[in-house]
Amino acid sequence: MDVIPSVCKNNGRRKVSKDVEMDIEYLYEAVPQLSTVFHIRDKIGEGTFSSVYLGEALMADGRKEKFALKHLIPTSHPVRIAAELQCLTVAGGRENVMGVTYCFRQNDHCVIVMPYMEHQTFVEVIGLLSFEDVRQYIYHLLKALRHIHQFGIIHRDIKPTNFLYNHLEKKFALVDFGLAQGTADTQMELLKDLSGLCRTPRAVFGERNLNSCAPARTIDPTVELVKPSKTEDPANRRFISIPRRPLPVRTPVNNKRTNPTVNLGLTCSCHTTDRVCNVCMSRKQQVAPRAGTPGFRAPEVLTKCPNQGTAIDIWSAGVILLSLLSGRYPFFKASDDLIALTQIMTIRGSKETIQAAGTFGKSVVCSRELPRQDLRTLCETLRGRRPSPDDEATPQDYRDSPVSAGPADEPSGRGGSEDDRGLAEVGVQDERGWNQVPDEAYDLLDRLLDLNPATRITAKQALEHPLFAGL
Ligand code: ADP
Ligand code: MG
Ligand code: ZN
Repeated sequence: MDVIPSVCKNNGRRKVSKDVEMDIEYLYEAVPQLSTVFHIRDKIGEGTFSSVYLGEALMADGRKEKFALKHLIPTSHPVRIAAELQCLTVAGGRENVMGVTYCFRQNDHCVIVMPYMEHQTFVEVIGLLSFEDVRQYIYHLLKALRHIHQFGIIHRDIKPTNFLYNHLEKKFALVDFGLAQGTADTQMELLKDLSGLCRTPRAVFGERNLNSCAPARTIDPTVELVKPSKTEDPANRRFISIPRRPLPVRTPVNNKRTNPTVNLGLTCSCHTTDRVCNVCMSRKQQVAPRAGTPGFRAPEVLTKCPNQGTAIDIWSAGVILLSLLSGRYPFFKASDDLIALTQIMTIRGSKETIQAAGTFGKSVVCSRELPRQDLRTLCETLRGRRPSPDDEATPQDYRDSPVSAGPADEPSGRGGSEDDRGLAEVGVQDERGWNQVPDEAYDLLDRLLDLNPATRITAKQALEHPLFAGL
């Protein structure tokens, strides 16, 4: 039997490091009220804009209860903080969306207190899940999305680390509204206020931004060209998982750049070629929200389409389902938007991507035609259930070579290590449903990964998909 870690390794059992101890000390100093309520045990998450701690509180009835304390980076915009809180208070606490218990504020420090949900990381469980687990996981994710989308909330950062999953208890919780935005008709007042703040695209830390200069004048605002400069086949890449490097919370990301100007009257000569001329190099940057993680970004986000809606979350859910069905995580691991777009084209086809981009006013050029792949064949091959197209290669070879995660990302005991288990065990052990994945699963995947946001399935429609019959 596969053993699933039942206790999150950050559960306060391990001894915390000196660094974490210092961070906890810093938090107590920054927000002294915390010490009257919580015993802060450990740090359980750290990103660019927040650190999350595990705190224990003694309840009135003598029980000890666990909470997640999210300490937002002090430079966060007050409206941004308030909007995150509003999403949690208005939409949270039901339908697989995390709720909020309390919020502490001391000067520019803000700590959001949430019920603590024990969970496993995606990497820990992805190899152990049965097909039925996957069906339920995606159903519960879609339920959370339907719920927030009803409020006009676009989450913008749907990925496994923001969808907490407790495999044993079958619990799910969508967290992290730190990048959320409102739809045109959102019910969330603060998300409306945010649209003004988001005019300038926020730098995504560690990311190459090819055209972040804003010249004084636009040459031709009607032509926006997206040029994947690299047509490198992601299938030839091997990705290694890099552990999240803790960023010092006290140093905000600063991305000031000089603004070069452009001579007037220049015309562009590179349209529909795969070069970028000097005129285009200095074009004004298209202003469009571009939050999130490259590998989960929808084509309309990657190409900076200014009209983005709830469909962008659906695309990200599709990428998660692709990971679950193929057993690969991360699936698309791209350091920037153009590589991410190329990887999408490798799976969904370059012609199809170019055509879809046309529907939202973007012109994409790709120097090589990449055929659309059959999703079942792709996923079954990556799972090692099908021989690789290359006769010579064993499933193991193929498994290590294509789109994403190399062995470094494979949790021990995942499907791929069947070879390591005794033969008898493989024979006896049921295949966890992976030998009979219904066509409906790939049909839903195809609709979630619809390149065109206008026709992409909605969360509400997806929940009525035949794949979820009986749930
Ligand atoms: P960030 O904006 O820094 O990504 P998140 O809200 O996504 O912050 O939280 C970061 C991590 O902290 C999550 O991936 C999760 O592991 C942990 N976490 C957040 N909220 C909770 C919670 N309520 N219960 C348990 N763990 C949580
Ligand atoms: Mg997060
Ligand atoms: Zn040009």
